[in-house]
Amino acid sequence: METRALKVELLSLGARVPVRIKGRKAGAGPAAGGMFIIGDTVANVATQSWFVAQSPYHLAFAHGRYRLMKNGEFVTEVRFPTAKFQTLKTAEGIPYYKIALLHGMDCLATTTIQTCVYWNTPLRCRFCAIELSLQSGATIAKKTPEQLAEVARAAKLLDQVTHVTLTTGTTATPDKGIEHLVTVARAIKTATGLPIHVQFEPPKDLTIIDRLADTVDTVGIHVESFDRTVQSAITPCKANIPLEQYIEAWKRSVSIFGESQVSSFVIAGLGEHDESIIEGSRLLAELGVYPFIVPLRPIGGSMLEHKRPPSPERMRPLFETVADILRETGVSWQKCKAGCVKCRACSALPDYE
Ligand code: SF4
Repeated sequence: METRALKVELLSLGARVPVRIKGRKAGAGPAAGGMFIIGDTVANVATQSWFVAQSPYHLAFAHGRYRLMKNGEFVTEVRFPTAKFQTLKTAEGIPYYKIALLHGMDCLATTTIQTCVYWNTPLRCRFCAIELSLQSGATIAKKTPEQLAEVARAAKLLDQVTHVTLTTGTTATPDKGIEHLVTVARAIKTATGLPIHVQFEPPKDLTIIDRLADTVDTVGIHVESFDRTVQSAITPCKANIPLEQYIEAWKRSVSIFGESQVSSFVIAGLGEHDESIIEGSRLLAELGVYPFIVPLRPIGGSMLEHKRPPSPERMRPLFETVADILRETGVSWQKCKAGCVKCRACSALPDYE
């Protein structure tokens, strides 16, 4: 099987793995997975969700190597990124892994504010687990610029991290958490010079995005779904934001950061039709925005924990079709300087370009 098709299968089906590499349980992104390096690509593979027990894939460990097996047959070898920085602690005794983690092969990632204004309300995104990792003690509520600068310096030195992803829960303030992202990004940039990606909800006042221009290299403004019914049911807080506000935020961001430096997650498997993903991706690509299509990752403890991700049979043609659109428009992961698109562990779309 070609590597990209294997990646699609692993993203949808997950794999059973030895306990020591199960990965983080919760968080804001597609958590509950492990980072599998296969050939020259990397996949964020579900290892803890309920459906993993039914996956035909499992990892066997023998003679110091991990062997990926499908229905008991050897498929390929898998490597895992090392993160030496995650074994360190700050002077106050906070473990670095509670401040930021290695994502993919070489990306330092963190949720700068681990609380969300929508969490204890009916508006919470049904797939999200942002406050679960906080409740479990796996992280801290708000990471300071000093803490993140320290961790980023170590991650660059010890593990050759090449870029940084910063996300945030939405705050109750009009800047939606962007101000804190600016401060944190500035501290990391000064300490390391690394390219930085930040993610946020589109603010009403678009000039707030301009404040990121000096320190940040790429941004993610995530619509999650283009299907209005799905939005109302799954991401009610986002259903309250008109698509026009997203479009204006994407346009302004492309004008600041450039083509292929702005992205939006588009989640498959929330009840939408393929057409909504394909047409939505076309809209994004024509604006110069990368449609980061990911299969739903049902995280344990989230409101969608019992859902099943979309099948590889559905995802493969979706990736192929949208990759054609990317080729037409010139938008490409290879141009992207930082963030999820550069990391590409959660989507096989870059592998299909
Ligand atoms: S694609 Fe984004 S969320 Fe997924 S592992 Fe990479 S940095 Fe993390």
